[in-house]
Amino acid sequence: MLVEVAVAAAVRGTFTYRVPTALAGEVALGQRVAVPFGRSKRATGYVVGFPTAPPAGFELRDVVQVLDAFPPFTPKLVELLRWAEGYYLCPPGELLRAALPPGLNTRGGADAPDRRRVEYAAPAPGAAEALPGLQRARAQRAVLEYLLARGRIPVDELRAALPTARAALGALVKRGLALLDSEVPVARSGLLEASGKVANPTPDQARALEAIDAAAGTFTPFLLHGVTGSGKTEVYLQAIARARAAGRGALVLVPEIALTPQLAGRFRARFGDEVALLHSGLSDAERHAEWLRLRRGQARICVGVRSAVFAPVEDLAVIVVDEEHEGSFKQEDGPPYHARDLAVVRGRLEDAVVVLGSATPSLETLENARRGRYRLLELPIRVDDRPLPEVEVVDLSGGRRAGRAPSAGMLSPPLAGALATTLQAGQQSILFLNRRGYQSLVLCESCGAEARCPDCAVAQTHHARRGLLLCHYCGRSDPMNGLCPACGGLRFGVGVGTEQVEEAVRALLPTARVARLDRDTVSSADDTAEVLARFARRELDVLVGTQMVTKGHDFPGVTLVGVVLADTALALPDFRAAERTFQLLAQVAGRAGRGADRGRVLIQTFNPRSPAITHAVGHDYAGFAAGELARRQALGYPPYTRLLAVRVEGSEAGARRTAEALAHAARPALGPGVSLIGPAPAAIERIRGRSRWHLLLRGPDHRSLLAAHRAMARVAARPPGGAAVRFDVDPHAML
Ligand SMILES: [Zn+2]
Ligand SMILES: [Zn+2]
Repeated sequence: MLVEVAVAAAVRGTFTYRVPTALAGEVALGQRVAVPFGRSKRATGYVVGFPTAPPAGFELRDVVQVLDAFPPFTPKLVELLRWAEGYYLCPPGELLRAALPPGLNTRGGADAPDRRRVEYAAPAPGAAEALPGLQRARAQRAVLEYLLARGRIPVDELRAALPTARAALGALVKRGLALLDSEVPVARSGLLEASGKVANPTPDQARALEAIDAAAGTFTPFLLHGVTGSGKTEVYLQAIARARAAGRGALVLVPEIALTPQLAGRFRARFGDEVALLHSGLSDAERHAEWLRLRRGQARICVGVRSAVFAPVEDLAVIVVDEEHEGSFKQEDGPPYHARDLAVVRGRLEDAVVVLGSATPSLETLENARRGRYRLLELPIRVDDRPLPEVEVVDLSGGRRAGRAPSAGMLSPPLAGALATTLQAGQQSILFLNRRGYQSLVLCESCGAEARCPDCAVAQTHHARRGLLLCHYCGRSDPMNGLCPACGGLRFGVGVGTEQVEEAVRALLPTARVARLDRDTVSSADDTAEVLARFARRELDVLVGTQMVTKGHDFPGVTLVGVVLADTALALPDFRAAERTFQLLAQVAGRAGRGADRGRVLIQTFNPRSPAITHAVGHDYAGFAAGELARRQALGYPPYTRLLAVRVEGSEAGARRTAEALAHAARPALGPGVSLIGPAPAAIERIRGRSRWHLLLRGPDHRSLLAAHRAMARVAARPPGGAAVRFDVDPHAML
């Protein structure tokens, strides 16, 4: 008996081994095995096929051991992985590794504890009064705040939101501030918990559900385009409830669980222990345990991030990709897969319904809907007919010409006024700026030298509170002492960051309770959840932050959203800059007015006539998309072409040499309509002291790029300049 094995190493292709008679009964498709590989006596591999004849000219070696009692991959998953290998042309072993929970890569097929009962945590009566006493115990405080905000919840949900909650919860129980109990999961006994009550669908939701229902059992991809606050999650929940009623499984992919604990919580509340969570906030052991529950069929619904597209859900009926336009579905190191695209492929292999949901669908997905590949479902109005917020533009360029430049922290008079009015009305505000730190650029007034990271070709950001100049690429920090190291001249900073905005808000509104949410103020998922929980309980009036404040939070008290500077993302040298800006503006604007009071959004910009901004003002996704698609078509960018980015990193001479060798290999292999751009130094020429070059291959479709891709892959296996080469199929980041 022969098996085809993908070895968990950075090698392309698969290898054939012989199965000794003693192991013949144990080997199955998707099984993990130990095999001799190269000089190593034992390497981990996965059975991906059963060839009938051995390859000519190779001496066959034997499988040493079968590593699990059952194969970690279902046959459908093996099919998906093989498809991905052919599409992304990456080493199959690397994909298989990315697809498994980290615990399984390092250990044997360990058993997880059998969990027939679900543990619940709840705040003890009177626990709220004890909060001030927990000032020093930050972890305990965060857990208790979360419990006070959410009530009695499964411990799993708590740990999804606060990964280190376990120890803190134990301490709270000892202090008598929290209660633990457990019971047989409600969902299994066929009842729904009170907190998971099923809402009556709106007419639009009902229409969407009908279409999804009618497609059950066949591969049908849908684009669920619903404005912010239109109730997309309820459509997901009810579609999955119907799949479960038929005894089938579901997979839900979300961009980031730490920022959206509410969403994971809603699935838990509705389906109890049938939900397994897979995300990076869990420990390896916890992820492994959740994965095993799915593999054994104990959990039938998986809610997870990018890599959960490989989750072993059996008999998959529904696949949901929430916020399908989000960039975090694209893997930026390791195998360059896009989880949304793989979700659609998996749906085809499993005859499942695929629902891609977004308020601002990616142009790739929209184009697929326009061509009839995906069916379009629309939720054009918010639930309870709540109006979309009123969006106004504050033209900063006009203000500058008229000598009315915004004050420190970029708070223009209209934005400052709106903040004050909102505070007086007892309502909450969110201020968004896509740039952390105090000042983004520090210059010498004598010689003009800018503070740059010596290891990376980028400007350092001034972080005033810490008195440091930081590089946001490598983390290098230098003291900010105000004098130019080159000439001793005085230095000054320009360009506003979130730290400066926060300071300006405190100066403007001394009585307001202000917090900032960015990677400088929070270092863990716990911290993030703590800030968000305080904001949700209305213990804060103003929240200043980066993208972290734009995600799918639902804060009914927020009536004002201010975009401090919309231009930061527009200026990037990336063909998706306008699309990303529009998506960001629409997402952050969608945070306003989700409660009873109408929301207001102020967008400050120096480019008030940019289409991304004018269409965001009008809530006009269709108008923006039409213009942007026409522009992409004229310029030959996706979705009308396909791209392959080749990134080269190495010594200054080596990166250049390798890049030139790649181009040399690609040129004779360019088919009709395929062009090669570069090689050229990347937009950021150096990171961590390593030179970066890139090449871009552009062709009419994916297939047209394969020949040149293969030719370059042969060079990359032995790069003449010794540089590292990464092939990025359908690239997202262009820097
Ligand atoms: Zn100087
Ligand atoms: Zn650096």
